[in-house]
Amino acid sequence: MSVKNKLSNIIISTAIGLATSLSITAANADQKYVTIGTGGQTGVYYVVGQSMCRLVNRGSEDHGIKCTAPSTGGSVANINAIRQGSLDLGVAQSDWQFYALNGSEHESFIEQGKFEDLRALFSLHSEPFTVVARADSGVETFDDLVGKRVNLNNPGSGTRGTMEVIMAEKGWTVDSFKLAAELKSSEQSQALCDNKLDVILSNVGHPSGIIKEATTSCDTKIIPVTGPVIDKLIAENDFYAPAVIKGGLYNGNDNDIDTFGNAATMVSSSQVDADTVYMIVKAVFDNFENFKRLHPAFANLDPKQMISNGLSAPLHDGAVRYYKEKGWM
Ligand code: GLU
Repeated sequence: MSVKNKLSNIIISTAIGLATSLSITAANADQKYVTIGTGGQTGVYYVVGQSMCRLVNRGSEDHGIKCTAPSTGGSVANINAIRQGSLDLGVAQSDWQFYALNGSEHESFIEQGKFEDLRALFSLHSEPFTVVARADSGVETFDDLVGKRVNLNNPGSGTRGTMEVIMAEKGWTVDSFKLAAELKSSEQSQALCDNKLDVILSNVGHPSGIIKEATTSCDTKIIPVTGPVIDKLIAENDFYAPAVIKGGLYNGNDNDIDTFGNAATMVSSSQVDADTVYMIVKAVFDNFENFKRLHPAFANLDPKQMISNGLSAPLHDGAVRYYKEKGWM
């Protein structure tokens, strides 16, 4: 190779090196970090967030979005964090989506007023209101909770919120219970089996780690949640519906259990840009068969139902763009 050729080779390779480092800088500058709020680590919301991020992060080199899905306090905490801008997206029960939009029911929602920027992306699995009692607690019906040691769940969780809705209808207060605990969803099964509680609660998809842990670590039974108060809640609110916890999913619970429930939904804010939401929704629905395999609670999900059921907030513009491209609306 002549000196001249060598020189031009060096110049070319330096230029390539420079270009590569420039494009890395450009990619870093364009990198966008997205955080999805979930729930406790043994719940289904955590799996939803982790699964979505896994699909989003596969395409990071193309779209520049990096996704994380930390554990959080649950529905109400997620919605409030989205409103404050510390989360971009979050999973939330359909009842709390409605109440946030309307500035009703929860103290924090009433204080802040209507959350008009709240946007829906899609709904997910159904979440039966699930009550698990120690077998030796004497609890047979939901009304037997009075006078017992009950975990109401942490403030900020959707479960706590929905329990408070039921308590208000029944005229119960925290004083109705021998103990009204505020443990997080991930802590309650162990406390139940350590005999520190008689009853735990969870609005959660099935099968769930929370209920599995409780029903395998000690003798428990799942208690039905039915009756006139529940019928009234269902009749008055579109986002509540009768629900069944299938028999055979958990130890000691061979029969179907009647209760009521809501849908889990994915929400965001109109402050989050449409391109980002478009890419996230695309990552989920372009890989939908993969997504469905990531948790048994997702098995019956159907895209067209997901964009119409259980949503009270308007759809996010970025999600609408994708759904229109697919011909779903
Ligand atoms: N629905 C529950 C809540 O909003 C969370 C359920 C879960 O973690 O899967 O608190």
